[in-house]
Amino acid sequence: MIAVQRSIADVAAEVRACQNCSLCRGRKLAVPGEGPAPCDLMFIGEGPGFHENEQGRPFVGAAGKFLEQLLGSISLTRQQVFITNVVKCRPPANRDPLPEEMAACASFLDEQIALINPKIIVTLGRFSMARWFQGESISRIHGQPRKFGSLWVFPCFHPAAALHQERFRSLIEADFLKLPDILAQIEPEEPPAPIEEPPQQLALF
Ligand code: SF4
Repeated sequence: MIAVQRSIADVAAEVRACQNCSLCRGRKLAVPGEGPAPCDLMFIGEGPGFHENEQGRPFVGAAGKFLEQLLGSISLTRQQVFITNVVKCRPPANRDPLPEEMAACASFLDEQIALINPKIIVTLGRFSMARWFQGESISRIHGQPRKFGSLWVFPCFHPAAALHQERFRSLIEADFLKLPDILAQIEPEEPPAPIEEPPQQLALF
């Protein structure tokens, strides 16, 4: 069998054509995520909002500007990290993503994580946090990295939380300032095994 390495662009193309849940009906543009692959830092938010749905890019509204400021505080740009969401299409009126929508979209995120092979995933908000920290309170565990198998996960508030409630701003800022030291302490992991696709059936006649 010939192993075919799928790329992050292959995943993005599938996301853009996906009709696996009802969110496809209201989207203008799906938002697969963007950034280098592989890379050390991966950020996972909740779902696209108005501006993301218009542009097909993650975190391009006010929360995205704040995320860029937070990255700047640790001498990073958004071009150096991978940014995506748990659901790739905008929930109507920016409502919370439903469990069945997150479940339908989960395989895309799984494959992105495998291809990006980050040293650490930063979850932004409750919904991405709950993928790893089920039943936990973000107020209690934010800023405390935990290892799941070979993967470190660092829960943070969503940047939009700071835009709505000033008291969250200093908490998010302080959590981001921990990231460089945490990154420096994490040993590099083995690169991911290639994802195999069934070989193409050759036409014999
Ligand atoms: Fe497909 Fe995910 Fe969009 Fe639902 S949210 S249609 S599963 S890409």
